[in-house]
Order: sequence, then C-alpha cells, then structure tokens
Amino acid sequence: MPEMPEVQAHAERLTERFAGRTLEKFVPFNFTALKTAVPAPDTAYGHQLIEVGRRGKYLLVQFEPTTFVVHLMQGGRLLADDKLSAKPRGGQARFVFETVERPDGTLDGAALLLTEQGKERRAGVWCVPTADAMSSPPLERLGPEAASITDDELAARFTANSMRVHGFLRDQRMIAGIGRRLANEVCHRARVSPFSNTRKLGADGASKVGEAIRSCIAESLEYERRRDDMSSSKDRPSAMHSRTGEPCPDCGDAVRAVEYSGYTVNYCATCQTGGRVLADNTTSKFLK
Ligand SMILES: [Zn+2]
Repeated sequence: MPEMPEVQAHAERLTERFAGRTLEKFVPFNFTALKTAVPAPDTAYGHQLIEVGRRGKYLLVQFEPTTFVVHLMQGGRLLADDKLSAKPRGGQARFVFETVERPDGTLDGAALLLTEQGKERRAGVWCVPTADAMSSPPLERLGPEAASITDDELAARFTANSMRVHGFLRDQRMIAGIGRRLANEVCHRARVSPFSNTRKLGADGASKVGEAIRSCIAESLEYERRRDDMSSSKDRPSAMHSRTGEPCPDCGDAVRAVEYSGYTVNYCATCQTGGRVLADNTTSKFLK
C-alpha cells in the first residue's frame, strides 16, 4: 500500500498537472466508489482545482467548497486519463475537467481516473466540506502526521498507548502516514525490536524512533520525487522490508520474518533484539 512518501510525491505531481483546471463533473463507476451523500460532488462543479493535497495516506482533491478525499488502499491509482473510455479497466471514478483551448487553437481535455485492480474494491472517495475537511470522516480519526510529529508528542502517545511499537506505527489513529514497509524500516533504523512495548520505550526510545521516522520518510520522499509515477512496492527502497533471508546492510546478519495473515514483520536480530529470535505469541496456531 502506498505510504506517506508515495502519496505526497504523487499529490505534488497531480497538482503540477491539474491545478487551476475547472471541474466539469465527477463520475463514479460503481456504487461503492463514493462513500458519502452530503455534500454532493456537484457542489464542486465549475470550481477550479486548488491543489491535490495529502493527509496521512489520503489524497485531497481540493476545490473551494468541497474536497474529494481519496484513499487508494492496496491497488488503487489516481492517474491522468487521456483515453476517456466508457468503461475503463478497474475504473472506480473519474474527475472530468472542462476542456480548454490551447494558444495554438487545439483543445486540451483533461481527466483524472481512479482505478483499482483486483476484486476487493476498497479504494474510495469521500466528499467533505473543504473548510471542515480535517474534522470530517475519514480524516478526523487520524493521528499527527508522521513527518512532523515531535519527539515529545511521540513520547506522550507512547505513554498513553501500551502496544507493540510496530503496531503503533501502522495505526493511523496513533500516527498518520506509515504502513508496513516504513514500520519495518523505522524499527530497524531506530534499533528497536518491532515487538517493543511503547510504554517501556520511554522518552529515549521515542526520540530514537522519531529520528528514524524523519530520516526514513525523507529518504523515501526523495526517491519518490525523482520518479514521474508512483512506485510499486517492489521498487521502494528498503533495508528490511520484503528482504527475508537477505543480509542486513548494517551488520550482515540474515533478515528475519514474523508472518501474519496480512503482512510480514521483518527485522534484524543482531541490530534490534540483541540476537533474540521473535515469535508471534499473540495468536494461537490452532486459530489459523
Ligand atoms: Zn543488522
């Protein structure tokens, strides 16, 4: 799933291409694509796109009265649509902008297409009043932005929420923008076990994790901004994530894995757990 750096760089690319274009219509292709009834999408018709912004892992397609909050989930993409086909493959919704005349007299039509490959159909769009976007669902539940949370804020959240740090990092209500890959990378860079209890990490642990969050995000963002499209997960830089069995770039020990049904926690025992091998003991094997 795209995390903050991928979504941020993509929002910047879309802003560059589409800011200032006037929305003609919003077309959902199936009844699950639009998650809200009020305000209606047509409240944004005739308005210019201010920018495509971001909060957590959401893209914010912003017009003065109404913002379209887009979540790409696992396989969603929001891309320039030049074909305007009647039934685009994997199409969930389309933003059609008014056609403008170029200086040379030719016509420039523009559209944005939200697609989602696979059968899950979980990507979606929420329409919210722009003035209240941050206090409306789904954004209202998000924790502070990962890139700008302070060490003190992080320490306070660690103290208030006793949980495994890897789970904390992936929980969008605790901190927004980090997913499975960055959680693996951040724990490794901070030299903490992914299973460390947040309450026990204390202020020292929070500043190590905070520093790791900032540097991992900065590196990913730099990588992503050099691209002209959103990376797929296999392209994204990683020391730990999806590298089970490969050597740790810092110490050479083999990267280890704890498998869950939906994801894998990767870590280096030498760097992070004093050599101890982690096993998941929160779920019984009989429940699988
Ligand atoms: Zn290592």
